Amino acid sequence: MLDLSRFPDLTEKMDALIATARRCFDLRLQTNAGGNLSVRLDAGDAIVIKPSGVGFAECTRHNLQIVLLDGTILPSDHKPSKDLDFHLDLYRIRPDINAIVHCHSPWATGYASAGLEIPCLTVQTIEKIGRMPLIPLSHMGGPQTETEISPVFTDTNIRAAVLANHGTIGVGKSLMAAQYLAEIIEETAHIAYVRDTLMAAHSKAGANMPVYGTAADARAAQ
Ligand SMILES: [Zn+2]
Repeated sequence: MLDLSRFPDLTEKMDALIATARRCFDLRLQTNAGGNLSVRLDAGDAIVIKPSGVGFAECTRHNLQIVLLDGTILPSDHKPSKDLDFHLDLYRIRPDINAIVHCHSPWATGYASAGLEIPCLTVQTIEKIGRMPLIPLSHMGGPQTETEISPVFTDTNIRAAVLANHGTIGVGKSLMAAQYLAEIIEETAHIAYVRDTLMAAHSKAGANMPVYGTAADARAAQ
């Protein structure tokens, strides 16, 4: 049995994950028991993750799982998340990632399922995300795994991606940072849908897109 005193931040990180999951649920970024989220412990070689079959609103200190980056799952009454392997792989390849929020949020997933990359059409999206690649289904037609996801995130500038017919991924230095990205992805998809609908209704072709996310960036480039 692993000595849990190796993880003095365990309770704090579990409570932060529970609060983040609750916020995702309250914002309807994730209903039912789908999606998942995880956070890296300070020891560096272990994470806390929501297990399979537990809703974002039902996470507790007792049902969250502790998993070592080598794939060892500490004793648990729950099945591991189907997406555990891609979480572990992203933590292995990106030391800058300390948290991952993966939701099946409807506006973003709708775009991705139409085969459309969500345009970074607001200044905040340009500043906070820059680009959110669309990752297609696996070649077998099933859900994306680390085989499809990890190559996209080897670029350390990538902080968000959207999975066709599946959902979204936001990564960050903290749970709050990853959570904010999950919210920005969904908000941007919603705004893009409104823009595209209004443009079609008014027979408008082409719209302005921001090049810079902040006024300071724009000034610096002149
Ligand atoms: Zn999923």
